[in-house]
Amino acid sequence: MNTVLLPSGRAVPVLGQGTWGMGEVPSAKAAEVAALRLGMDLGMSLIDTAEMYGEGGAEEVVGEAIAGMRAEAFLVSKVYPHNADRRGVQAACERSLRRLGTDHLDLYLLHWRGAVPLAETLEAFEALKRAGKIRDFGVSNFDLDDLREAEGLPGGKHVAVNQVLYNLVRRGIEWDVRDWCRTRGMPVMAYSPLESSPSEQANMLGRPALQAVAARHDASAAQIALAWLLRQEGVVAIPKAVTPAHVRANRAALDIVLSADDLAELDRDFPPPPRRIPLELR
Ligand code: NAP
Repeated sequence: MNTVLLPSGRAVPVLGQGTWGMGEVPSAKAAEVAALRLGMDLGMSLIDTAEMYGEGGAEEVVGEAIAGMRAEAFLVSKVYPHNADRRGVQAACERSLRRLGTDHLDLYLLHWRGAVPLAETLEAFEALKRAGKIRDFGVSNFDLDDLREAEGLPGGKHVAVNQVLYNLVRRGIEWDVRDWCRTRGMPVMAYSPLESSPSEQANMLGRPALQAVAARHDASAAQIALAWLLRQEGVVAIPKAVTPAHVRANRAALDIVLSADDLAELDRDFPPPPRRIPLELR
């Protein structure tokens, strides 16, 4: 699996697995665990989760999936903004570790900005790092002003990633956030790379350019949407898939090489917004 480097020098696989929506329905758990294991076997060892997903249920699914394979996994979890004060971060992290059945996270993110001063959250992240509970920390859903503010705070230069909504129909970060991160060696983790909801996904995947490029590569539109993200320097994609065929297809997307003509055709049908827009969120 190709990797990108965090500012700390640690390597992150460029293609991982999301878990939003997992751990919510007990009868679905076995299939969710099996999907994550299949993904791990195929090299998608980065697993993205959060205390929010299934209110801890997704972390339990991940814990079961990585049992006996912790060393191979790159685990990302996120703290709720309302838990992001000094004590709250520590307690939330301990709960996440317990549910995941591990003694450390590879990456711990602030899920989005809330009312707790950012300086306090960063200080708490630094303390977790010193205690060996997390290897790196980062942020999610941070627009340019948030990133600038973080950079100026103690610990801010250690922010390792920004996880944001990014896909063919959500290209607003190309105005500034993506390059701001790139020049600092901070990977962008693209969430909802396939547009999550069935209706929005169908709108994106059904567009003619995507269909045409997919046909040329004997691939699916979803695979091309992923390949488009994965070809970019410093971008990590974390599609969520429970269907085994989707897991396999997502891994295979990594091997698709898009040509200049493919990229031009996709740009014509999926242009970035004509002017800067506020960061889009899920
Ligand atoms: P997504 O990964 O863009 O889309 C998931 C949907 O696409 C599921 O319905 C899945 O179906 C389907 N799918 C997966 N692979 C496919 C393929 N090859 N072909 C066709 N359909 C496919 O949406 P997401 O879950 O919103 O985003 C991914 C991850 O990003 C999340 O799970 C979460 O870890 C993270 N995230 C973070 C934030 C944040 O605020 N930081 C927000 C949203 C998401 P099946 O499950 O049936 O396979």
